[in-house]
Amino acid sequence: MHPAILWKRLDEGLAQCELCSHFCVLALGKSGKCGVRVNQEGTLYTLVKDKIAALNVDPIEKKPLFHFLPKSTTLSLGTMGCNFACTFCQNYTLSQPPKHGRPIYGEEISPKQLVSFARQYNCASISYTYSEPTIFIEIVLETAQLAKKNNLKNILVTNGFQSKKCLQTLNAYIDAANVDLKSFQESFYSSYCDGHLKPVLNNLELIKKMGWWLELTTLIIPGLNDSEQELKQIASFIYNHLGPDTPWHISRYHPAYKKHLPPTPTSTLEKAYTIGKEIGLNYVYLGNTPGHQTENTFCPFCGKVLIKRYGFQVQEIRITHNSCSFCQQKIAGIFA
Ligand code: SF4
Repeated sequence: MHPAILWKRLDEGLAQCELCSHFCVLALGKSGKCGVRVNQEGTLYTLVKDKIAALNVDPIEKKPLFHFLPKSTTLSLGTMGCNFACTFCQNYTLSQPPKHGRPIYGEEISPKQLVSFARQYNCASISYTYSEPTIFIEIVLETAQLAKKNNLKNILVTNGFQSKKCLQTLNAYIDAANVDLKSFQESFYSSYCDGHLKPVLNNLELIKKMGWWLELTTLIIPGLNDSEQELKQIASFIYNHLGPDTPWHISRYHPAYKKHLPPTPTSTLEKAYTIGKEIGLNYVYLGNTPGHQTENTFCPFCGKVLIKRYGFQVQEIRITHNSCSFCQQKIAGIFA
């Protein structure tokens, strides 16, 4: 157990966690919704600071980030635990056990070792991912500070449910984020995720203002968030509040955890793609559809293929000095 950050003492031994928008109030001996922060004798502790449960070198395209250092590799790490309880979670063996009081596995790897691994494997960045990085902020913060000093970028892959204080604490160290916008219905967030929509929307706007490179992902689940109206609401929000250059990744659902619906048909993903483009988004991508032409980046000005991909593999990049190599117009993103 290590002392946690971002919390405050309340009366009668209670502690309030200020890390995410649940703002849990923890009685003595109790843990918060995530199951990895606990009140011991009036002080808040984290149970995962010394427990990295997953560590891999990934293509950055797997996060997914398509406009941030394409074709680079990123050292990806995560602990167990999450502040959401998505019934369709594609990573539930990592994210959900702590909520149910099950053992938390992982090993202590120091920020120095992580930075050294990243350099050894020629990674351009470190990604805090797999479960929900908010709940292991103590690892993120220390590692990101050291990574920055060593010329590495830092990436959050997140559900976007942080408190404002949490985002502000991370602001100086994070360079890019992929944030899930899971739905545009509060009832979806409350019924299927044990979360809420509004804090996510507010955080997306804040992240954009803070200047992190931002891409969004929506996992389309048949019958739950695939109506034309909802897809239009999501695309319009991105267009109006985050800007038409914000990439939107539309991802195919596969049955997982407690939801066993059929995988999302390609025609539904294509419908979402068309809606995104019609609303005016410049960069819309389909995910979990290897070989589909919408995995490529097209120049919004001349229509030529700028980044050719197959799955997470980048086959060709035709962007020079952040501009289209064919028509020389500026392309949004960080490419060098
Ligand atoms: S991180 Fe969120 S879910 Fe976990 S204890 Fe803090 S407020 Fe609660």
